Amino acid sequence: VTIPDSDEDAAAAAREQKKKARVQFLRVVKLYRPDYPLLGGGLVFLTLAVVCEMSIPFYTGQIIDILGSQYQRNQFRSALLFMGLYSLGSSLSLSLSPSSSLSAGCRGGILTCAIGSFTCRMKLQLFGALTKQEIGFFEVTKPGDITNRLSNDTVRMGESVCLNVNVLLRTFIRTVGMITLMMSLSWKLTLLILLETPVTGLVQNIYDTHDQRLQLAMQDSMAEASEAVREVLSNVNVVRSFNAEQHEAGRYGRSLVKTQDLKTRRGCFRAVSLLVQRLTGLCTQVLMLYYGRQFIQSGQMTVGSLLSFMLYQSDVGTNIRTLVYCVGATLKSVGAAERVFEYMDRRPVVSTDGTLRPDDLSGHVRFNRLTFAYPSNPDRTVLQDLSLELKPGRMTALVGPSGGGKTTCVSLLERFYEPQAGEILLDNEPLKSYDHGFLHRKVAMVGQDPVLFSGSIRDNIAYGLTDCSMEEVQEAARLAHAHDFIQQMGRGYDTEVGEGGGQLSKSEKQRIAIARALVRRPQIIILDEITSSLDTESESEVQQALSGLPDRTLLVIAHKLSTIEKADQIVVISGGVVEDRGSHQDLMEKKGSYYKLVEKLFAE
Ligand code: ADP
Ligand code: MG
Repeated sequence: VTIPDSDEDAAAAAREQKKKARVQFLRVVKLYRPDYPLLGGGLVFLTLAVVCEMSIPFYTGQIIDILGSQYQRNQFRSALLFMGLYSLGSSLSLSLSPSSSLSAGCRGGILTCAIGSFTCRMKLQLFGALTKQEIGFFEVTKPGDITNRLSNDTVRMGESVCLNVNVLLRTFIRTVGMITLMMSLSWKLTLLILLETPVTGLVQNIYDTHDQRLQLAMQDSMAEASEAVREVLSNVNVVRSFNAEQHEAGRYGRSLVKTQDLKTRRGCFRAVSLLVQRLTGLCTQVLMLYYGRQFIQSGQMTVGSLLSFMLYQSDVGTNIRTLVYCVGATLKSVGAAERVFEYMDRRPVVSTDGTLRPDDLSGHVRFNRLTFAYPSNPDRTVLQDLSLELKPGRMTALVGPSGGGKTTCVSLLERFYEPQAGEILLDNEPLKSYDHGFLHRKVAMVGQDPVLFSGSIRDNIAYGLTDCSMEEVQEAARLAHAHDFIQQMGRGYDTEVGEGGGQLSKSEKQRIAIARALVRRPQIIILDEITSSLDTESESEVQQALSGLPDRTLLVIAHKLSTIEKADQIVVISGGVVEDRGSHQDLMEKKGSYYKLVEKLFAE
């Protein structure tokens, strides 16, 4: 049986992983900073509990000594004092069980508080980072993955690090305390005891490394066995026709034997390692008793202090091992943190660090040879070398078959995505050099399906604005022909729209969405097929209201001839390219694709 050697690469990768874990762990510890005072309080209780717990063997020894001596009056009094301290210590640290003592309870409460506040902060920070991501990120990332990291991983990251550090500190204080007390009882015996730890540690280490290798080899040979079975089962006719049943049984059998062999070796190895460790422990204890007796005879120790010492000795090895184990476990616990940090640190592909905020934006837009494919489907080009100009103060209508790329043009103008080639210029400056907030105030879009959030009508119209007066809200509502119906509602502008605007009709929702766009006094207004959800009457009213706005650049995607006709410029987009452009008159005379489109509209 050959055992695979852990090769160089794997070792390097493991080292790298360890280093990364350490960095992440420290980062979580730093992020806990606002809770440091709270955690400091927890540390006080932790120390108190451990000190009380640790003093018990010490006092036990003292009591034995006092009880064992021919005590006199004053010694009796100190015996009582020790008894008192003993019971106080145990009630503080050990009432019922270590985990339910008073100090442990206080510490637990404090830790829960700290973890809670940490988790809150992480959730908020992660949420903030998530909302800054580009739209494409949400299209290629599973929503479940995002909510999972937001609701579970943030909690786990806080808990695991905090709790592990807690155990680590507790074990550390306990170990140091025990060794100190043991030293004070007899430094010679302590040194003797401490010699045991490296020996058992070394044995354990050798065992762990070897066992891991055996385990890997076992997994391999088990996989081999099941692969043999799978192959035979799916090709049983070939096996039969070549009379290879014996051969295959032999192959399967060899894998089984190999697995069994490795299993036996693991068992033996475990037994040997345990035996060596126990023997070492036994030797230490025998030596301890031997020297202890000599120290008692020579007056260096009392019976009580030897008893205390022995009580500590039985625990100190376990504590040291726990300490070593804890360091590893703590570093491993940052897996959840890794997932949280991944999104927290993610830089959005569509940058939002433009700074331009000109006072006088004319609203001139030029699409310059855009080529674009959606991130979720990068192989399919949706826009191909598309150029387009929106003149300031003019109305442009985008028309064309469904799926032609009209909404995509709008999405690029909103900077939801970054085109693969070409650029969009706004007043002759690249769109990306404009400040994010400024751009979304100046460019307002009303989409095909109006989305409202739960809250009042007023909240929805002033959505995202902090400095918006009631007058401005009403003015926008009037322009959108929404004011009248809002007034007729029970509580006017304070009417709750229900979740997703469920209490309003589609046309009403649409008009509120239009008011929401207009209240920002945008320079460029985009209406993407709003007509599909408005009745003819409200549609013409809204259109009229919008065409009454001078100096605004208007981009309308529509299917109704009455709307399209009014545009200063009509652009036909089909298959991601511009097929036709010009005024209604020109295009009708040209008898190109626009003409065909209009004919089709009439035929419907
Ligand atoms: P139109 O608005 O002209 O009907 P769109 O611009 O919405 O067309 O769509 C153009 C093409 O892009 C369509 O083939 C559509 O399937 C595809 N598409 C639209 N949105 C996405 C998206 N988010 N992810 C991937 N493909 C998309
Ligand atoms: Mg569309």
